[in-house]
Amino acid sequence: MERYNIITEKFPREIVLLKSKPCSYGKCAFCDYIDDNSTNVAKINQVNQEVLANVKGIYNTLEVINSGNIFDLPKDSLALVKETVEIHQFDKLFAEAHWIFRNHLTKMRNRLDVDIMFKTGVETFDYDFREKVLKKGAPFQSVDELKQYFDSPCIMVGVKGQTKDMIKRDIDIVLNQFNHATVNVYCENTTAIKPDPQLKEWFYNEYKWLDDIKHLEILWNNTDFGVGD
Ligand code: SF4
Repeated sequence: MERYNIITEKFPREIVLLKSKPCSYGKCAFCDYIDDNSTNVAKINQVNQEVLANVKGIYNTLEVINSGNIFDLPKDSLALVKETVEIHQFDKLFAEAHWIFRNHLTKMRNRLDVDIMFKTGVETFDYDFREKVLKKGAPFQSVDELKQYFDSPCIMVGVKGQTKDMIKRDIDIVLNQFNHATVNVYCENTTAIKPDPQLKEWFYNEYKWLDDIKHLEILWNNTDFGVGD
């Protein structure tokens, strides 16, 4: 499994995929990330120490992802992240957190003593599809409510049951109402939530131009950031 990469386009940064405890939320219907999670804290910290040792401070930004939330990292791993930020004098950290952590984001910024851009898995701004089908557990009612907490939504396209209109609205929102967003084209996994190949093909043909939009990062495959497997 690749756990370190350098992203050179759009938002140049080093990215690490750290190992973590199981996601504190853990109920998203489309998620099978748990394979990389562990409850062996010593092992987690050992892996993370090795992964973070790759970081060189090439740009001013580091991204930490961990098949869950940054809050799911053991405290010694968080201390290693803080140390890495200090040693390489990063100005900015990208990290992920679920809606349940919305009132703890500032505490994490203070703890790691760095400006954190918090991404969050929104998947879609269509409330019913997000909550009833995807079981996201992020029951915000409006874009403004989400923006009170989070900087950057991650949305998902190409899921069976999703409609073109839902996707068009989601793209319109991330294009026009956020300074950064990630669009994940959904890939088959072990869950009951299936991709829709025709919808994916339509999206590719209709929205390939998003690759040229500076503040949107499009993952046509879920390893496009060069980490994971
Ligand atoms: S919040 Fe992320 S890691 Fe946790 S269950 Fe949902 S998709 Fe999976």
